[in-house]
Amino acid sequence: MANKKTGGYKIVLTADRTLMSEYNGGIFLGFSACVPRGIIPDILYFSIFCPSVEVNRGVVKYAPCGTRKIEAALLSYGFKRDEITVAHPDFLGEVVGSKTKVIGITENDPLGIGPATSTFTQLFGGEAYMAAKFRELLENPAIQAYKPKIIVGGPGAWQLEDDETRRGLGIDCVVIGEAEKIVGLLFDKAINGEQLPGVVYGEVVNEEEIPIIAGPTINGIVEVARGCGRGCSFCEPTLQRYRCLPIEHILKEVEVNLRAGKMPLLHAEDVLKYGAKGLDVNKEAVYHLFKAVKNHPGVNSVGISHFALSSVASAPEVVEEISNILNAGSDRRYISGQTGIETGSPRLIQRHLAGKCKPFSPREWPKVVVDAFQTLSDNAWISVSTIIIGLPGETDEDAVKTIELIEELRPFRSLIIPLFLVSMGGLKDRSVSFTLDGMSPRQGEAFIKCWEHNLNWIPRIFEDYYCKVIKNGIARRGIKLVLSYGISQGKELMKICEKDYGYDIPSMQRDFRNGKIKVASIPARLLQSCKLIK
Ligand code: SF4
Repeated sequence: MANKKTGGYKIVLTADRTLMSEYNGGIFLGFSACVPRGIIPDILYFSIFCPSVEVNRGVVKYAPCGTRKIEAALLSYGFKRDEITVAHPDFLGEVVGSKTKVIGITENDPLGIGPATSTFTQLFGGEAYMAAKFRELLENPAIQAYKPKIIVGGPGAWQLEDDETRRGLGIDCVVIGEAEKIVGLLFDKAINGEQLPGVVYGEVVNEEEIPIIAGPTINGIVEVARGCGRGCSFCEPTLQRYRCLPIEHILKEVEVNLRAGKMPLLHAEDVLKYGAKGLDVNKEAVYHLFKAVKNHPGVNSVGISHFALSSVASAPEVVEEISNILNAGSDRRYISGQTGIETGSPRLIQRHLAGKCKPFSPREWPKVVVDAFQTLSDNAWISVSTIIIGLPGETDEDAVKTIELIEELRPFRSLIIPLFLVSMGGLKDRSVSFTLDGMSPRQGEAFIKCWEHNLNWIPRIFEDYYCKVIKNGIARRGIKLVLSYGISQGKELMKICEKDYGYDIPSMQRDFRNGKIKVASIPARLLQSCKLIK
C-alpha cells in the first residue's frame, strides 16, 4: 500500500533486494546472488544466504556504498535531509507517496548479464536473483500508483543503455559512470517534471569533490581510492584515473559506520596502491592508512575489498606489515580480499591486460601470481580470485597455461572463480561475449580445475573464516549444510565431466537439459535441520 498519510519522501533511493543484504558479513557470499533462482529454495536463500538489512518504517539502516554516495551528493547539492530517504525495496509503500517525485536505484547487474551471473545462468539456465528482484522492484505497487521518475545508476547501469530495454522497463534515465557531479541537477529536473535524457554519462569526480557519506554502509564499506590507473587497453575510462581519498575523509566515513555499529571495510580496486603516485607501492602511505584506521577509537577490526597480485609480489613486506597491524594470523584471524588472475597466458596478458602485471612484464605473470599467493598464504590472507574464460583470441594453448597455473595454486588457501568474458566496459564494441556453446574442452578443463580447487578449499575456509564472520548460528549451520551438500553434488558432476565427456561442458550441459544427467534438489531434511520448514 502506498503511503497516503504522509505523502512520502520527495526523493527515495533504493536498490534491489539482493543488494540490501550483508550476506551475514561474509561479503563474498554475495556471489550467491548470481546463481539462478530455483537452485536454492527462495526461503532458504533469503533467510540464510541473503538476509535483509535492518529496516525501520521502510528506511534501511545500512545501504550500498554507491547509494550512500548519491545520498551525500544530493544533500551537498542542497536537497534537505527530510526530502531524501534510503529505503528497502520490499517496503517502498512506507516511504513512497504523492510527494515522491523521483526514485534513484543503484544496480550491479539489473539484467543478470554481468560476468558472474551469465556464467551461472548459461550453465544452469534460469534467471538470476538480481535480475528477478530488479524487475520486481520496478513493478512495486507504490511505484505503479504514484509513477515517480525512475533514475538508475551503479556499476550495472551500462546494461540499460539501450532505448528499447529502458523504455520496456519504465526507466526514465540511466546514469553511466561516476554520478556525484551530475545527480543534483538531474534529480532537480525530475522533481520539476522536466523531460530527462534517456542516458547520462557521469564525469570523473576529483577526490576533493567526493562527498562524505551521511549514513552507514553495508558491511561498513569505506571507499579509500577510486579508479585503478594500471592503464589496461580495454579498461573503462573512469577506472583509468586513479584518485585517493585523504585520511581525514576516510576516518569521517569510518566514524559514520562505527556510530551504527559497523567495523570498517576499506574499498579500492587495489588497497595496496593507496597513496601511490605511479605503479610502485607507497609503503609509508599504506602503513599510515591501516594504522590510522586500526587505531581509530572504537575500531576492533578492519577488512579490505580488493588488491592486485602484482602489488603483492612487488611489495611482500607491505602485506606482512598490514597483517601485523591488523593482528592477522593470530587466533586464526584472516584477511580476505578479492583479486584478479584472469589468465595464466602471458600472451593474453600482453594483449589485453598489460597494465595488470606492472611493474613486472607479461612474461613474468604466472610467476608473479604464484609468488603473490605464497606471500598471501604466509601472512594469513585469503584471496578470492577471478579467472576469465574466453578472453578474445584465447586458444587451447592459452587455456593450458591457465590450467597449469591453477594447478600450481592448489596448495594455497584461496578461492578461484572462473567467469565467462562479458563484452563490457572498454571491451564493448571491440569483442563479443563468450558463450558456453563456444567453450573448448581445454577451456572446460580450466573451468573445472578452478572448481576442483574451490571444492577442496571451501570447507576449510568456511571453518576458519566464515564461521567466525557469520554471527547468526542458524545461518551458519544452514550455509554449512547447503555447502557440504553442494560440494558432494559438485564433485560428482565434475567426475562425470572429466571421465565421460573429456571436459566437453557444452555436450554435458545438453545432456543435463535433456534429463540424461540428474542433479538432485536440496533434500527436505536439510531445510528441516535449518528449522526453515516443519
Ligand atoms: S587492472 Fe583492471 S581495473 Fe586496472 S586498468 Fe587493468 S582492467 Fe582496468
